Amino acid sequence: MNSNYEIVVGLEVHAELSTETKIFCGCKNKFGSEVNTNVCPVCMGLPGTLPVLNEQVVEYAIKMGHALNCKINGTTKQDRKNYFYPDLPKSYQISQFDIPLCENGYLDVLVGDEVKRIGVTRIHIEEDAGKLIHDDKMGGTLADYNRCGVPLIEIVSEPDIRSADEAKAYLDTIHTTLLYLGISDAKMQEGSVRCDVNVSVRPAGSTEFGTRVEMKNVNSFSAAHRAITYEAARQIKVLEEGGTIQQETRRWDDVKGVNVLLRSKEDAQDYRYFPDPDLLTFTVAQEKIDALKAEIPELPVAKTMRYMADYKLSRADSELLALNKNTAAFFEAVLATGKCEPKSVSNWILGDIYKVLNERRCEITELALTPANLAEMISLIEKKTISNAAGKTVLEVILDTDKDPNEIVKEKGLAQVSDTGALNAIVEKVLANNEKAVADFKNGKTNVVGFLVGQCMKESRGKGNPAMLKEMVVAAIEKM
Ligand code: ADP
Ligand code: MG
Ligand code: ZN
Repeated sequence: MNSNYEIVVGLEVHAELSTETKIFCGCKNKFGSEVNTNVCPVCMGLPGTLPVLNEQVVEYAIKMGHALNCKINGTTKQDRKNYFYPDLPKSYQISQFDIPLCENGYLDVLVGDEVKRIGVTRIHIEEDAGKLIHDDKMGGTLADYNRCGVPLIEIVSEPDIRSADEAKAYLDTIHTTLLYLGISDAKMQEGSVRCDVNVSVRPAGSTEFGTRVEMKNVNSFSAAHRAITYEAARQIKVLEEGGTIQQETRRWDDVKGVNVLLRSKEDAQDYRYFPDPDLLTFTVAQEKIDALKAEIPELPVAKTMRYMADYKLSRADSELLALNKNTAAFFEAVLATGKCEPKSVSNWILGDIYKVLNERRCEITELALTPANLAEMISLIEKKTISNAAGKTVLEVILDTDKDPNEIVKEKGLAQVSDTGALNAIVEKVLANNEKAVADFKNGKTNVVGFLVGQCMKESRGKGNPAMLKEMVVAAIEKM
């Protein structure tokens, strides 16, 4: 990246809301149904039908507004955005123009170790369009209207983002926030979250913005990162060669890693927005707005910061724990038992348990594992009743049964041997069988102690207390 330039990015994120029914009719809001089965005269745009606003859409959007620290406009309206395209049978999309439901907010995101505040211009509600299926077999295009009328929120950021990394952090945080609020399934691969990326560059130190280019067809957050890096470099090259940037829309091709011109500003459409006469103004009572605010849980970035401050966990670990609300709740429930250290709980969840969740592609709540059992198992290690290795054996059992870890330790004979007499016998035997290692130790190669302790552990069939064995091995050699 040429350091004489600064990148400026603004993002428009569309998220499908996971309501039961569509925004203006009773059709199911469901992904993956047989084509054109979740449709009715309203969402097909037939003449003479009347849309009725789904209250749940408004509530979900207000929740997102609260999560992003927005002002909520209790009285607002809906507008028609007019354009023709075959995926939009009405030839207009019901959206919000000059009075969005939420505006003037911000989102704090973590970039590296720093908190960066990104302004949120507005969040408005609107309906999704259908999907066109291009079918080579019949040499034509088919239209699936199941997605028509699926509720969306559009979240528009201020041009406050200064790098591809910041953009990625912002998008990731929007994503986890949607999941925390339970208002969207936020599945990128199903297109539930999509984003348009606006990029400009300017000479470092300049206070004026450069001309922006908008990119469409950015289908994942990592693609957004690549698209921004590419577009910024393209603009800098144009400027360095004495050219100027045109305001235009370009299409990102993630496979080729390039973008191509889609339309210039001159081709920009005039959407002839006007208030939808079928819907008119609506008002949400202040008590309702306040009640929705009270339902907002602690959000991922706040959680991450709290884990770092209160539990002295690293940023990376805190962020991973906070990423998924179920995992975070589980972590907190284990700590609430007061039986074990945050660091060991974090290590077990992010290590062995995460591995299982990845293998089984499931949530922590789907395991039989309970916070109480995990806490008990970890406390047995911390009390040195069992070794770390024995802890793994216990975990294997409690992942899938609600069996008391103490029972498992008894049944499988996993308790650590801390009895000096028994351990002494083992140390003597191992030292006698490993004269060379003992000699090496005496000659200053003190790291062979690891090998000797390993032999003792083997001799004890994994049950010896390794810390005690180490002390005893060293003491015994020194006495020799
Ligand atoms: P449009 O309807 O043309 O897409 P919007 O107002 O919906 O316009 O979105 C504009 C987006 O572009 C916002 O996210 C905003 O932050 C961003 N933006 C505006 N100016 C710039 C700029 N100079 N460089 C980068 N992004 C910008
Ligand atoms: Mg736009
Ligand atoms: Zn319908």
